Amino acid sequence: MQKIAVIGVGYVGLVTSTCFAELGNQVIGVDIDQKKIDNLNKGIIPIYEAGLTELVKKNQNNGNLSFTTDIIKAVKASEIVFIAVGTPPMPDGSVNLDYVKSAAESIGKAMNGYKVIINKSTVPIGTGDIVKIIISQNYKGNFDVVSNPEFLKEGTAVADFMNPDRIIVGTSSSKARKIVNDLYASQNSIIVNTNIKTAELIKYASNAFLATEISFINSVANICEKIGADVTKVSEGMKLDHRIGPKAFLNAGIGYGGSCFPKDVKGLIQIARENEVHFSILDAVEDSNAAQKQSLLPKIQSLLGDDLHDKNITVWGLAFKPNTDDVREAPSLVIIKQLLDRNVKVTVVDPIAVNSAKSILKDSVNYEADLVKSVNNADCLVIATEWPEFKNVDLKKIKKAMKKSNIIDGRNIFDKKEMKDFGFEYLSVGR
Ligand code: NAD
Repeated sequence: MQKIAVIGVGYVGLVTSTCFAELGNQVIGVDIDQKKIDNLNKGIIPIYEAGLTELVKKNQNNGNLSFTTDIIKAVKASEIVFIAVGTPPMPDGSVNLDYVKSAAESIGKAMNGYKVIINKSTVPIGTGDIVKIIISQNYKGNFDVVSNPEFLKEGTAVADFMNPDRIIVGTSSSKARKIVNDLYASQNSIIVNTNIKTAELIKYASNAFLATEISFINSVANICEKIGADVTKVSEGMKLDHRIGPKAFLNAGIGYGGSCFPKDVKGLIQIARENEVHFSILDAVEDSNAAQKQSLLPKIQSLLGDDLHDKNITVWGLAFKPNTDDVREAPSLVIIKQLLDRNVKVTVVDPIAVNSAKSILKDSVNYEADLVKSVNNADCLVIATEWPEFKNVDLKKIKKAMKKSNIIDGRNIFDKKEMKDFGFEYLSVGR
């Protein structure tokens, strides 16, 4: 059992603190957001993540997990301190380290003995050294800094944390390495021990590579549309090459979004630039992704004509991917803005992400919970997120409710032949 403080209880910090508590540790989650902490203390969980609410409540009740805004008290009471604060992008693509620096300063001021400070946030190469310097400016005793980037995926975060593909531990201290390896021992995962900078780079390289796979297959999909090939079959054929593999990230769609891929691609571009390394693949990945997010509009116009003024268009899916309420950089927001700019009457549906989207879309769109009602009198239905409940909809009822039977499927959730049999004008991606 370890005494742990987790600084920042957003997607990563909340899952980290809850899962370490579930594994039998004594964990204090800390945030500067008083409302978030008040809500957590009332049992209100700020994000949607399968299984998380139950785990938070269980571990609050058994005394393993608590939440506070008092970072000094939390750090003093802990032997291990995770930094899991946000690292948002700056306008020039570089990473805003203000939250990490501020957390490091508070940790330094609270230090009362040897502790391991673990950076879980995704941070540029060399941040471990910056954290070390800031803490040592505020504390003269011994401590170690470790880089332990997080790879959980929103939507399956708890399961990913409990059963990770790998755990990366970057440190030059054998004492800290042992403490962190022991902390993760019960997860039964491969642990890659390395130095801090290598650990920091593994995170960026992984996310930028996954984003590259997505942009690659999206460009292949665009060729498929021109030549009459089927990208799902191209992908199936590619994945049978064991060097590519069955789990390769090769599902064509309308581009990647979320809080990580866009930011981390930008981050690695910046890291390459600072080190005078030519890494133009990543510029192409960004260009390709931006273009893919714009690919729905011409498809809609090909069915409804260029002038969309006063048309009724329904968008299914706001979250950047299923099973999360996160709409950061979501492709849905790009197409919705394009439609609103053309005076379209937009109705939106999302099983979970409506509240997060409302802070951006406000009352510019109609929000509807029922799938059939949402397409009432619609000229076109656009699918922007592959939520499972969309796949199981009664298509007969959808067809009956719509004014015109146009569907643009940005996530290839429906079978092309079936849609034709139902009498829909149906366009998807790369098929
Ligand atoms: P988030 O924005 O959801 O949460 C960050 C939290 O940190 C917020 O609650 C904020 O109030 C808090 N915070 C900021 N400064 C603080 C301070 N000084 N003291 C205490 N709390 C503070 O961010 P997130 O999505 O959890 O991401 C955190 C980090 O993890 C980022 O570096 C991100 O790139 C990385 N990451 C995210 C994911 C993901 O899927 N979201 C996955 C892996 C890694």
